[in-house]
Amino acid sequence: MRYLYYGLFVIGAYLVLAMVPLFVLLVGPDIPGRGFWRELSVGLGFAGLSMMGLQFFLTGRFQVVTSPYGIDVVYHFHRAISLLAFFFLLLHPAILLLSAPATLGLLNPVSAPEWITAGSIALFAFALIVISSLYRLQLGLGYECWRMIHGYVAVAAVALSLGHMIGVNYYLQVSMKRGLWIAITITWVLALLYVRLVKPLLMRRKPYTIEAVIPERCSSWTLLLRPEGHAGMEFKPGQFVWLTIGKSPFTIREHPFSFSSSALHPEKLAFTIKELGDFTATIGSVTPGTRAYIDGPYGSFTPDRHQFSGYVFIAGGVGITPMMSILRTFADRHELRPLLLFYGSKEWEEVTFREELELLQSQLNLKVVHVLTEPPAGWTGEQGYIDAEVMGRHLPEKRMECEYFVCGPQPMQEGIRSALEQLGVPSEQVQSESFNFV
Ligand SMILES: Cc1cc2nc3c(=O)[nH]c(=O)nc-3n(C[C@H](O)[C@H](O)[C@H](O)COP(=O)(O)OP(=O)(O)OC[C@H]3O[C@@H](n4cnc5c(N)ncnc54)[C@H](O)[C@@H]3O)c2cc1C
Repeated sequence: MRYLYYGLFVIGAYLVLAMVPLFVLLVGPDIPGRGFWRELSVGLGFAGLSMMGLQFFLTGRFQVVTSPYGIDVVYHFHRAISLLAFFFLLLHPAILLLSAPATLGLLNPVSAPEWITAGSIALFAFALIVISSLYRLQLGLGYECWRMIHGYVAVAAVALSLGHMIGVNYYLQVSMKRGLWIAITITWVLALLYVRLVKPLLMRRKPYTIEAVIPERCSSWTLLLRPEGHAGMEFKPGQFVWLTIGKSPFTIREHPFSFSSSALHPEKLAFTIKELGDFTATIGSVTPGTRAYIDGPYGSFTPDRHQFSGYVFIAGGVGITPMMSILRTFADRHELRPLLLFYGSKEWEEVTFREELELLQSQLNLKVVHVLTEPPAGWTGEQGYIDAEVMGRHLPEKRMECEYFVCGPQPMQEGIRSALEQLGVPSEQVQSESFNFV
């Protein structure tokens, strides 16, 4: 309930902050009206820009913003609201042009005042951000290249939009309205400075050393990190961080990874990483002693938020990492509640943490159900994909009193959600973590 109220408060705060510039247009000394369509166009421009500026808060990984929902939900919201904001920004010139076709000439950068051209370039910059985000994979843009475009072009687009607004100097003639926009701009700049400067500086004060790089089954590696001169990081089992290895904390070359270690040991952190792309393919060659920085903890994929009488975990492939953190933490806490893990893998030899899961079954009230798509000859366990039938055979009678955690490839997550729905599990009892939210 606490999270619900807080979540509603965050949504309310977002709406107020996004709409304040519009309300402020209405207060203060009257400015002679310029007709409905022109005012609507300007209002949409203000609202769109205000929403774009607020993106610095949504993507700045501020705990106050992310804690009620989890960062993946906030990123989805960021994506959806950006499209709406971009639509408002597009409507701003579109309505002007349609209601007063004479303004078409303003699109010519040679003859148009520079503040109009600034607005046009800003619109192109926002379009570039939207298109590169929606079609990143189709355009063949690597994640890092995309992130660079996204970060720098966004700042340029917002700055140019502000320049456009100041240049128009219509509503901003009124000192109160000008003051408000200056205050809004300052908060955006402060958010940006915090994310790009203050946060990396804080991370630099808390470095980690990679103590060991341990090979695991299925082309995965476990990195053990020791804090250098500080107590480490407190986190909840199931959460994740952004990890930077061998580079300055100011770099944008950071990647998200879930803790795989017990939350009761903030002084000895482990991350288990599967070789999937250009960065993760290099993990096996990281040398012990390399310095690392972590930004976190983030995420709401943890059993520590709500109390249930049992927990069911459903993992596919490397999606086992947050579950390992949860199970290792539970073992350290001497947890007695019933736990059930469905773990989908391709082959028996590829089952990461297979031996430790065996051990955990003897330490906890835990049952592990391995589900293999390519089982070895003589395999008597479950095979194929984890679906309603497989789960139905193993779920406890009190399945409605359990909380469910799902982490794995996107198609698996969707399949599990509908399978659980078929089995009558209320969707609010199902938590999922996506390793692919960008
Ligand atoms: C919350 C979360 C927890 C994760 N936990 C683990 C884990 O415990 N173990 C594990 O092996 N993997 C985990 N991942 C996935 C891991 O972050 C990606 O596999 C890794 O970043 C891929 O990087 P790459 O350069 O090797 O591959 P690339 O080929 O460059 O990227 C493959 C895909 O990974 C995603 N990706 C790449 N870099 C980033 C980034 N910096 N931020 C967000 N997404 C990115 C992109 O969607 C990209 O298309 C997690 C991801 C998320 C979002």
